[in-house]
This record gives sequence, structure tokens and C-alpha cells, in this order.
Amino acid sequence: MKYSIVIPIYNEQEIIPELVRRLKLVIDNLKVPTEIIFVDDGSRDNSFEVMEENHRTDERFKVLRLSRNFGHQIAITAGLDNASGEAIILMDGDLQDPPELLPEMISKWKEGYHVVYTVKRSRKENFLKRFAFSSFYKLLHTFSSISIPMEAGNFSLMDRRVVEVLRSMPERNRYISGLRAWAGFRQIGIEFDRDARFAGKPKMTIRRLIDLALVGLISFSNAPLRLAIYFGLAVAGISFLGGVYVIYEKLFTNKAILGWASTIVAITFIGSMVLLTLGVIGEYIGRIYDEVKQRPIYIIKDKVGL
Ligand code: UDP
Ligand code: MG
Repeated sequence: MKYSIVIPIYNEQEIIPELVRRLKLVIDNLKVPTEIIFVDDGSRDNSFEVMEENHRTDERFKVLRLSRNFGHQIAITAGLDNASGEAIILMDGDLQDPPELLPEMISKWKEGYHVVYTVKRSRKENFLKRFAFSSFYKLLHTFSSISIPMEAGNFSLMDRRVVEVLRSMPERNRYISGLRAWAGFRQIGIEFDRDARFAGKPKMTIRRLIDLALVGLISFSNAPLRLAIYFGLAVAGISFLGGVYVIYEKLFTNKAILGWASTIVAITFIGSMVLLTLGVIGEYIGRIYDEVKQRPIYIIKDKVGL
């Protein structure tokens, strides 16, 4: 197999026929053996039946069905583990990532790049979401210990060697774009305009997007843990100055002590800082717990054509 295209699918029955139509136009032109692996991430609609039916008419379209909904990143992981191409392409199943960009990605790969990621030049989402995405990428870019390109999501092409690196990473909390950047090799970005979703509602709810953002930030940065140290230093500095003032007042003046308000403010401030930093530490411990449990990352229910 030359190319494998891995596409996570969660309740996208109304999109699949159009997705298949556009993919066919593109891969027919490639004129080399290509497979498409749809990973059904526990869809509750007829997505699986539609994809299974589609396999009967065109064997290049295969299906991997997970036992329940595991989430986007895990679905991609399952697809990568089952792809046999020399180059593997990841894309979303809602046609926000245009299949027509594939030839350009492939030509970069032929030039010798191991990773061709795509950078969103523009997005068709509302202002709030765009703002949230760009803040996330800026935070990640600033605080991560490796350089993770901005506005680069899952839509990408990876050489077999890079995919093997990803597969060798046992972590359960997976942020694929970060892991891909971490892998190294020769990487290049190409720009594209992200389309609007073809049909239906986004399957990544705001909560899931926040979860994913946390996975990204926490698995690629220890900066939040350092917050505790910075807060500690700041509070220590302030209390030192306060202490100097209190001693001065005691020794050299005879003002009455009125300190109630300042005491309460100090206690609540320090209390909230302690809770906040405990929460940050808790996030990391929760993830350590996830990892040590060593559960399988996903469970496969059916394979069609694989
Ligand atoms: N998806 C998935 N599992 C999920 C949520 C989403 O496999 O739990 C798939 C979804 O079907 C789509 C892709 O991941 O093909 C991206 O999802 P979505 O369009 O909702 O994300 P967004 O574009 O809003 O980031
Ligand atoms: Mg989408």
C-alpha cells in the first residue's frame, strides 16, 4: 500500500457519501494503491452501516469500529495502528479538511519531507471559537518544551517512520499534533483555508475541546507546575514587606492595631492560591494515574476490509 488515509468518524452519516465522492476523485488521480481507513468512534447513527455498504462497492474504503466512543485522538491512534501505507494522511471526516489538498501534501513528501502538516490560514468558525483556538496555540507555543507549530491541527501527512515513532509512544493522554512535532525528522507546513463543516453539528463539544487543550498543555509543558513557585515567591515578597512595616509600626509608633481587613485579605488570597496550585498539581497526578493504570488505549469491535 502506498498511501493510507485515516479518518475518524462519529455520527457523520449525512456526510459520508459526499466525503467518499470527493476522496474518490482525488485518489483515482493518484494512480497508486491507496486505502481509506474510516475509524468509527462508536457512532450511534447509521454511520457504520453506510461505511460497511460503501466497502462492498469499493474495497479501498475500510472500516475499523471501536467498541464505544473513545474520542477523536484515540480514534486516530487506532487508525494509525492499522494503516499499512508508506505515507499516512490524517484528516477529519466533516470535510473541513479539503481532500483536494492531498496531491500538494504528497508532492512535499516526495521532495523528502517526513511530516507535511497544514496550517489554517483562515477558519470559518465564530469569533469566540477562533479567539479560543488562537489563544490556545499561543499558550502552547510559549510554554511547551518543544516547538509546536501554531494553527496546525490533525490534518497532515506522515511518513511511515514518523508513524512508527507515534506508535511507540505508550501514553494514553494523546495530543497527536504535539506528538507529531515531538517526533522531529524533516517537517514542513503548508497553508490552507479551513472550510465550514459540510453538514451536522461539531462532534467536539466545547468541553471536549477544553479537555484536549489541557492534554496538549499538560503533556508538553511543566510551566503550570511552576506557577506554584511563582505564586509562592510573590506572596513571600509581599509578606516580607508587610513584616518590615509591622515591626516598624510596633517599635517606633504608638498607632492602635487595626489589622482585621488586611488579615482577612491575606488569608483568603493565600488560601485561594494554595487551592489553585493544588488543582494544578492534581491535574498532573490525575494524568499520571491514567498512565499507570495501563489500560488498553482503545478496543476494536469490528474490522471491515482490514
Ligand atoms: N470525532 C470522533 N470522535 C469524537 C468526536 C469527533 O471521531 O468523539 C470525529 C468527527 O466525526 C470528525 C472529526 O473527529 O470527523 C472532527 O470532529 P469535529 O468536526 O466535531 O471537530 P472540530 O472540527 O469542531 O474540531
Ligand atoms: Mg470539524
